Amino acid sequence: MNEQAYAAARVACVETLEPLELGAVPHATPIYLTSVYRCPSPAAAAELLAGERPGFAYSRDGQPNKSQLERRLARLHRAEHAAVAPSGMAALGLALVSQIAAGDHVVLSERLYGRTLQLFGAEAARLGMTSTLVDPCDLTAMQAAVTERTKLMVVETVANPTLRVADISALAEIAHAAGARLLVDNTFAGPLVCQPLTLGADLVVESLTKMIGGHSDLLLGALCGNADAWERVANAQSRWGFSPAAFDCYLAERSLATLPLRCERASDNALAVAQWLRDQPQVAAVQYPGLSNHPDHEVAKRMFLRDFGAMIAFDLAGGRPAVDQAVDAMPIPFCPSLGEVGTTVTHPLTTSHRGLSADEAARLDISPGTLRLNVGTEPVEWILDALRRGLTSGAG
Ligand SMILES: *Cc1c(COP(=O)(O)O)cnc(C)c1O
Repeated sequence: MNEQAYAAARVACVETLEPLELGAVPHATPIYLTSVYRCPSPAAAAELLAGERPGFAYSRDGQPNKSQLERRLARLHRAEHAAVAPSGMAALGLALVSQIAAGDHVVLSERLYGRTLQLFGAEAARLGMTSTLVDPCDLTAMQAAVTERTKLMVVETVANPTLRVADISALAEIAHAAGARLLVDNTFAGPLVCQPLTLGADLVVESLTKMIGGHSDLLLGALCGNADAWERVANAQSRWGFSPAAFDCYLAERSLATLPLRCERASDNALAVAQWLRDQPQVAAVQYPGLSNHPDHEVAKRMFLRDFGAMIAFDLAGGRPAVDQAVDAMPIPFCPSLGEVGTTVTHPLTTSHRGLSADEAARLDISPGTLRLNVGTEPVEWILDALRRGLTSGAG
């Protein structure tokens, strides 16, 4: 029995050590798995928590992996501020609670991601906000939907799954003339295809889960904007607890390094695949903003930096039976998400748009034969061969 040695050993397990002397700055961003920071003094803690002194105190209010990712995203979107949230929906939730309040009205694109429609529709209605659904490509209708209570207009750069492109500059003018802000979900485009803030948008959301993450291994979102729209964002993020995990932020920052390579290759592939699909007898229609016959090709050319993105939608003439046969015959994984380095396919009417009535789907140009392709970075011949196998299976 040596009680003294035992007590010392117990203390050694938990005692606070001096920070390691690294001798140099780590070149890669380390992962900071700590929820709290040792503060030099009570006064310093108060300043850190109030954001009046650079640094960190408590990870819900801020942590290095989140800050590092935010710095990069802000530069990418040419924004003064960025806030990384635990998912794309959390970033949209942060936009909602920081921008609008009971009594306010929101104009929503009817082509928004389903969960976004539910968030700014039913959820916002429970909190006393109202909304109007409009086709974002009909500028006259967007203008007509604005009321004196409108505080926010919400659109997507490229809509799911039909890849209609919103004219961000024109929508920003309509919103600003009414004293409202324009929020753009840029997930289907990404920051290397389009930078909505430079076109007049006030806030931009990215689901980092998609192409920015790029490897289907994380869930994160980001809200970016300039000082005039940022007044309530930082406080709202901490109060509502929309705080991301350090490891996910680390993964996303790491992924950013290869985003240009992935985006460029996938976009080049997507253009070739769209052109090929257009010539196939089993394909009734192809939606890709890079094709000259796409209804928004000119808008996309004006707004996009270089590429038209990795997403394609196409309709099989054989309808749902042809879809089931093609999905079964193609060596392409069926995944109801997007943005992966590898090609994936999904069927909107059984996944993202399963809640729509036949009429609603038809109005959005989604048919039982519509497939959505996330074009990956494989050699384009491999992708074409995989699709050929799907199209020529069965009756085709
Ligand atoms: C996936 C997605 C979201 C939501 O992002 P999560 O990270 O899944 O929460 C929002 N908008 C669009 C356009 C998306 O594709």
